Parts: sequence; structure tokens; C-alpha cells
Amino acid sequence: MYTYYMGIGSNLGDREGYLAFAVDQLCGVQGVANVEHSSWIETPPWGPVEQGPFLNGILKVQSSLEPLIMLETVLHVERLAGRQRDIHWGPRTLDLDIVWIEDGAGQCVEVHTPNLVVPHPYFWERQFVLEPLQEVYPTFSYEGESIGARLETLRVLES
Ligand code: ADP
Ligand code: MG
Repeated sequence: MYTYYMGIGSNLGDREGYLAFAVDQLCGVQGVANVEHSSWIETPPWGPVEQGPFLNGILKVQSSLEPLIMLETVLHVERLAGRQRDIHWGPRTLDLDIVWIEDGAGQCVEVHTPNLVVPHPYFWERQFVLEPLQEVYPTFSYEGESIGARLETLRVLES
């Protein structure tokens, strides 16, 4: 059994509805045992494309599905939510990113394939990922640094 921590976000249409839809869909997938989620937080948009604010959070999913099957599953849920991929980093109804995976022994699972890279390459830089991650996984640490210390650093850099 794996524990998946997934970033979830929406900035188009009924944002809260899309997040709830994703949780609902994942709960119904065979091989998914449990889905919990953080609070949803409002996040200003970032990057080169002008767009509305995001609603972001983290899903904690217990599942026997292998990582590449989980990726297929979340991409399918994105499509069901009407996700279009026309503008890179543009507005989206639903974005699901696999941020961190642990195996049954609590060990980090790394994946490096053309379609899936885990840990997610930018997760440790992003407050909108780490804030909700801290809520569902307060003892999390990465490369010897606690998530609390990392968030402090990011807040100082931002101010
Ligand atoms: P982004 O999330 O960076 O805005 P997309 O949601 O459009 O980009 O995802 C593009 C592709 O990223 C996906 O089709 C998937 O194959 C790939 N990908 C690589 N690593 C991951 C990951 N950890 N989680 C989700 N998708 C990933
Ligand atoms: Mg994505």
C-alpha cells in the first residue's frame, strides 16, 4: 500500500466544486482505499499567464495502485473535469500533481520516467504546496529540513 500526497488546484469556474469532484472521483477508484484532504487555500496566480486566483490543497490518498497507474488515474479525473491543455501554465478547472509517495514502510518512493517525476521537482519551493502539506503531514521533512522550517524560510524570502 502506498500513501500519495497530491497537490490539487483549480482556478476556472466552480473551483470548490472541481476540488470536491476530484475527491469524489478518487474515492470511487478501485485500488484506492482512503482519501483525505487539507483545507483549501486561496493562492494568487503565478507565472507568465494572466489568470484568476487558485484554490489549492493537498490530497492524502492510500492506494495499492502503482505510481504510473495513479498518474493515469489523476489525468483521467482531470479530463472528466473538463481540463483543457491549450495554454501551458494557463488557467485550469483541475490540476492534480503527485508530489510525494511513501511505501508501506513509510519510505519515500522515487520515480523518474518521461511522464512522471516524483518527488515533484518544484514542491519544496512552493508555499501553496507546503502549507496544506504541513496540515496533513506535520512531521514531514525533506533533505534534513523540517517542513515548518522550510515554510519559515519561504515566508522570509517572500517578504
Ligand atoms: P503542470 O502541473 O506543471 O502545470 P500539467 O498538469 O499540464 O503541468 O502536466 C503535464 C504533465 O506532467 C503530465 O501529463 C504528466 O505526464 C507530467 N508529470 C510529470 N511528473 C508529474 C507529477 N509528479 N505529477 C503529475 N504530473 C506529472
Ligand atoms: Mg499538473
